[in-house]
Amino acid sequence: MGKETLSINETRDMMLAVADKIIESEPILTDADRALGDGDHGVGMERGMNAVKEALANQEFPSVGKVFMGVGMAMMSSMGGASGAIFGTLFRSGGKALGDAETFDGAGVATFFKEGVEGVMKRGGAKPGDKTMVDALAPAADKAGEVADLPVCEALSAVADAAEAGKEASKDMIATMGRAKTLGENSRGKADAGACSVAIIVAAMRDFAA
Ligand code: ADP
Ligand code: MG
Repeated sequence: MGKETLSINETRDMMLAVADKIIESEPILTDADRALGDGDHGVGMERGMNAVKEALANQEFPSVGKVFMGVGMAMMSSMGGASGAIFGTLFRSGGKALGDAETFDGAGVATFFKEGVEGVMKRGGAKPGDKTMVDALAPAADKAGEVADLPVCEALSAVADAAEAGKEASKDMIATMGRAKTLGENSRGKADAGACSVAIIVAAMRDFAA
């Protein structure tokens, strides 16, 4: 049976599972960034997620929000580059918005993704359609708002589908932000690396809650 809600420790363990999944996916993310960027996204995310594991393993947190904020801070301080700030902001903004909630439920999923994507757009200036991780994150946040009443397992399942569809849709987009911008029309055909990371992260959250 899937989870109705996640406790603080389950939320921490979910993010440890996310970290392992991203580390395992390093070659996929490297290939994606090699096609459109400078090829460092996989290694950067791997470094960030190793820092996340160090920050979270065997730690107790006072709220689910603090778990996510811990993820964001570990990524920001270890990764550098555009994506350290961008992914760090996703988890810090999303986590902060959860206040002192002690469970992660469908409504929490909606709050996390809504505030997370708003923080990312404010920080990086990308809008939907610019072929960045926002193109996986924004549809995920919209879907999360629609399924906020569902158990966390079902909410994350719907949100993971939306993130995956957003990542796929990024293939047809022309990059207007970041390093891929210089490719212009030639940036078409491949998915954005950061959007691939978002899809993998949300899928791992879904798999943990299932
Ligand atoms: P860098 O661009 O410094 O090499 P990475 O390769 O780790 O960093 O990450 C690249 C990813 O970061 C892109 O695929 C894109 O999804 C995301 N990204 C870059 N700039 C922005 C931005 N301004 N807003 C949102 N996402 C961005
Ligand atoms: Mg790069």
